[in-house]
Amino acid sequence: MTFTSPMKLMTIASVIGLTALSNTASAFSDQPNTTWLHCGNVVDTTEGEVLGQRFIKVQNNTIEQVTSERPVNVELVDLSDKTCLPGLMDMHVHLDGEMNPKSYIDGFTLNPADLAYRAQDFGKKTLMAGFTTVRNPGDSYNVTISLRNAIRQGLVDGPRIYSAGKSLATTGGHADPTNGTNAALMGDPGPKEGVVNSVEGARKAVRQRYKEGADFIKITATGGVLSLAKSGQNPQFTEEELRSVIETANDYGMHVAAHAHGDEGMLRAVNAGITSIEHGTYMSEDVMKAMKKKGTYYVPTIIAGKFVAEKAEIDGFFPEIVRPKARAVGPQIQNTFAKAYDYGVKIAFGTDSGVSAHGDNAKEFQYMVEAGMPAMEAIQSATVTTAELLKNDKIGVIKAGNLADIIAVEGNPIDDITLLQNVTFVMKDGKIYK
Ligand SMILES: [Zn+2]
Repeated sequence: MTFTSPMKLMTIASVIGLTALSNTASAFSDQPNTTWLHCGNVVDTTEGEVLGQRFIKVQNNTIEQVTSERPVNVELVDLSDKTCLPGLMDMHVHLDGEMNPKSYIDGFTLNPADLAYRAQDFGKKTLMAGFTTVRNPGDSYNVTISLRNAIRQGLVDGPRIYSAGKSLATTGGHADPTNGTNAALMGDPGPKEGVVNSVEGARKAVRQRYKEGADFIKITATGGVLSLAKSGQNPQFTEEELRSVIETANDYGMHVAAHAHGDEGMLRAVNAGITSIEHGTYMSEDVMKAMKKKGTYYVPTIIAGKFVAEKAEIDGFFPEIVRPKARAVGPQIQNTFAKAYDYGVKIAFGTDSGVSAHGDNAKEFQYMVEAGMPAMEAIQSATVTTAELLKNDKIGVIKAGNLADIIAVEGNPIDDITLLQNVTFVMKDGKIYK
């Protein structure tokens, strides 16, 4: 191993002006931390174009160069029959679980470590499906904050995670952790546990999440489908509470994502300055108008709607209080997505995986295209748009200076979006995982 060579060579090269020469690349080809990819096509997510053959030089975790000229005397990773894309991003996954008929018992039987092992496995599945960055809006025991850290430290394989830790809800709201339990277990959870009922409580809860290491804040602005509560759509925060959450989060450098099905709760959240609306099932034109004006992102999660609608027909899959909500909400989301897209609301890709199976994330693309979004725009919603939402200008585009998150599929996904469901090459941070 030539331990000192890369830095030294780089310095010498700069001094003698070698860096200006076109064969500089080959001069460094023996560096152990340089990889050259030979892509048959590259999707330019900025311009919305499919470029032809490109050669990509990756140095450590960074894309150094993208060129149409074949480099000489270097070993190429042969992706010449494939289309390369930036690593995909999913703005809504719950890596610490996966829905099954026993899910409602899990809360009483599983320990944090049980969830952590599951999360590690689900994280790996997500990465192998081509999703190199995810946002995890809500977990139990801050498991995905720990997973994020372990992945960063190289201890386990998984995507780059932005985690909210525990979601914030009102008493009895969608993410109140003791909904549906008996009186002895119900207790009275407060801001520390993610339950707020006042402007002060909201502030405290946000600060608590910050202290625990959250990257952003997730609130449940309306009722939800899967909680043990009657309404799937009632507004659950006052506008003052919402403002308190958002202002405090912004002070701490965090954005806020709102789970919302009902229109009133959504409108309040948008007016209060929420960054993204998740699900958005009963979104009216008034809300779309407000979102467009404010630049609010819509994270649709169509696949989750389809999943719960399908499972609602199976006896015993969901508790009876959940079933009618799943039947009503599930089939709506794809229609809402179609309307919001036509209206011009900004769409950021998200699946709610953990409801549907982890690793199936890319099916969402198919549902988006089915609902009228062109394939290229669907890909952009999971790359450039999500990078913008996360305020991370180093991901979402294959270009020099960006992080080396690159995936590849056979054929051209613009002609057939379902090809994204079979990602055959995955690189994250310059490391090849698949
Ligand atoms: Zn969710």
